Amino acid sequence: MPQRPETNAVHNSIIDRSSRAIVPPIVLSTTFQYETTGLEHEPDELIYTRYQNPNRAALEEAMRKLEYGAAAHAISSGSAAMLTIFQALRPGDHIVSSDDMYFGIRVQLKEFFAPWGLETSFVDMSDLAALRAAMRPKTRLVIFESPTNPMIRLADIKAISEIAHQHGATVLVDNTVATPVGQNPLQLGGDIVVNSLTKYIAGHHDVLGGVIVFRENDELAQRVMRLVRIGGSVLSPMNCWLTLRGMQSLSYRVRAHSENASEVACFLAEHPKIERVLYPHHPSHPQYDLARRQMRVGSGLMSIQVRGGRQAAIDVVNNLRLFTSATSFGGTHSLIEHRESIEEDSNTPSNLLRVSIGLEHPADLIADLDQALR
Ligand SMILES: *Cc1c(COP(=O)(O)O)cnc(C)c1O
Repeated sequence: MPQRPETNAVHNSIIDRSSRAIVPPIVLSTTFQYETTGLEHEPDELIYTRYQNPNRAALEEAMRKLEYGAAAHAISSGSAAMLTIFQALRPGDHIVSSDDMYFGIRVQLKEFFAPWGLETSFVDMSDLAALRAAMRPKTRLVIFESPTNPMIRLADIKAISEIAHQHGATVLVDNTVATPVGQNPLQLGGDIVVNSLTKYIAGHHDVLGGVIVFRENDELAQRVMRLVRIGGSVLSPMNCWLTLRGMQSLSYRVRAHSENASEVACFLAEHPKIERVLYPHHPSHPQYDLARRQMRVGSGLMSIQVRGGRQAAIDVVNNLRLFTSATSFGGTHSLIEHRESIEEDSNTPSNLLRVSIGLEHPADLIADLDQALR
């Protein structure tokens, strides 16, 4: 019987034969003694760390299992993971992308890949008719986040995958906000899933990393592997090791983040100074039914819109004591951020705060929000 994700996450590295250490050693050696000379080498033989490294191999295998894929590649950041996939396409190819997304990926497409001949159409992925209309014979890739960062919009992974596949396109889902605990896009019809390890998977605000998992080890997966190994945007052994340590508790952390966030969302939704709470598993979310169907847990990320506009929102950030004013999400500490101020090419409302609910006690978080909103 296949083991469950919680079990696989704990047993995510093989025990080192020479030391019998339960915690795997960090292999910093960049080069490895050849097993044979003059013969062809196996694809995963340890030769040079840019090609493969024991810590990276363990992380890739753990992520492959966690996302139910056939191949995984660990990369220096979530952004580099997306960049590598775009680089694997060819000039003249067309991408259909969600119009709400992590702004850095939009910048990659517009500033770097458009002049290079890779064209992107941006659509609202909750509008399936708009998606159908955007598909072209040259459309190679359909990309989206669900939920999106920072508007917390959902996309129906199954329905979008069906449409994309009818047009011969590959579906890439950025699963960073939902996490593999919340949903597994490859089981819902997606072909490629990307996670920024920097957020929930490493989970402790101390690793930058990304991973790409492919449902099939097909031509595109092979091309991406070669780009990673020949190009060298690999994740370092230390960061692989830290990620493997963090992910042992991933399932339990994400459930706790989600429970805490649900409580905070309920408090904020009733608060007279809050115009709107955007949280997938709160009944006020416009796609609540889809969120319940598609996501096992609601994750720890939400956005709120504060009554009174931009300055009122900034005042809330400045009044908080337990929440840190900082970017990023998915770690132990609760963070809050006025998103419009840091985004390039932003469409985000100026009264919106993105809130990452950490692992503090929810009553303490609610008490802090209560005093900050007074
Ligand atoms: C943070 C984030 C990224 C980028 O990941 P980095 O590891 O910071 O490069 C990509 N997609 C989403 C949805 C993110 O939240």
